[in-house]
Amino acid sequence: MVSIKAPRGVRDILPEESWKWAFVLKTASEVAQDFNYKEVHLPIFEQTELFARGVGSTTDVVEKEMYIFEDRGGRSLTLRPELSASMVRSYLENRMDQRPQPVKLWSAGPMFRYERPQKGRYRQFWQLDFEAIGSQDPYVDVEVIALSVELFKRLGMRGLDVVINSVGCPVCRPVHKEALQKFLEPHLEELCPTCRSRYNRNPLRILDCKNPTCRAITENAPKTISYLCPECKEHFEGLKVGLDVLGLHYSIDNRLVRGLDYYTKTAYEVISGDLGAQNAVCGGGRYDNLAEAIGGKHTPGVGFAAGLERIVLTMEQQGCSFGKEPSLEVFVVALGDFERKEALKLMQEFRIEGISSDMDFNGKSFKGQMKLANQLGAACVCILGEEEIKAKKISIKDMVTGEQVEVPKEEAVTFIKKKLTE
Ligand SMILES: [Zn+2]
Ligand SMILES: [Zn+2]
Repeated sequence: MVSIKAPRGVRDILPEESWKWAFVLKTASEVAQDFNYKEVHLPIFEQTELFARGVGSTTDVVEKEMYIFEDRGGRSLTLRPELSASMVRSYLENRMDQRPQPVKLWSAGPMFRYERPQKGRYRQFWQLDFEAIGSQDPYVDVEVIALSVELFKRLGMRGLDVVINSVGCPVCRPVHKEALQKFLEPHLEELCPTCRSRYNRNPLRILDCKNPTCRAITENAPKTISYLCPECKEHFEGLKVGLDVLGLHYSIDNRLVRGLDYYTKTAYEVISGDLGAQNAVCGGGRYDNLAEAIGGKHTPGVGFAAGLERIVLTMEQQGCSFGKEPSLEVFVVALGDFERKEALKLMQEFRIEGISSDMDFNGKSFKGQMKLANQLGAACVCILGEEEIKAKKISIKDMVTGEQVEVPKEEAVTFIKKKLTE
């Protein structure tokens, strides 16, 4: 035991779990390729202004505690709480508006939020993030939704459902906001404290409060889609048409709203699971005013983010396959100086041929080495004894059947290859 432990709210992803992550990441990369999204790797920390814009704008990202620190040069930096803002920052900074539009990017990596740790919630967590920047076509929104559904399908998830909404734009939102406030005013005292504080600055978020009293009050509240301006209305119709064309089933959720002003038009979630145990596995939508909010020129964009921990957990709950767990194929047993040199050479031959192999590095006895091979789950054991080396042979033991045969040394690789494909 060491006295230094990992900081509160974070955890280690150990080999027992990491191979599952690798499967999800590999699948994401394949789906990205099929939808023509290119991978980018962006910095984990950014200038604080990228995430905290304008003092007094009590937005949700600002509310969500962020990891903000000052570096030695006195600059305020922030560990990224999400990826969209970094993606748009990178698009603007690298003049990606000069490339064919929309620019379609994806990335995976850790995000950071200083939240109260609770089950399944960590201060460092991974997200997969897909963004299409530079088009307002509702079919790009359709593509983003189709991409996320395809990803979860390939991961074997069950009961996939798409819920959509439109949160409007700076033209139609104020009209809805006024109607909503008017509707809520007589119930102000009954709302939960959080919602009461949201009434003036961000009443839209009252719609997605989980508090039963708040939910009952907002049951018949004015819907954002009833107040859409002609442009937003047309966009929302286009979205529904595109989803229908692809045969992607969806339902409209009037409570699906966003807290930040730069989110526009489409908001959506993909839900997976059997009834009663449903989980939102990704959330996304359009953010046509984000580029301007961070000081760039107006650039429409749409995308989604999915938490890796949540995906893996949902897959485990649903008994989904993560493919074949990587396992050790050959363990080479050798005693004595000369034999160990031969073992080192043999192991290298296997490895060059793509056969995973290992040996003992702790001076174990023959019996100890056999036990180690077993613990490591080796499919076969190659025994390099004094007699075998003299006869230029190798004993190969099948660890499942226990069967043992002698083969000429130069045939070892071919023999093992054949055996592993049986
Ligand atoms: Zn609008
Ligand atoms: Zn509430």
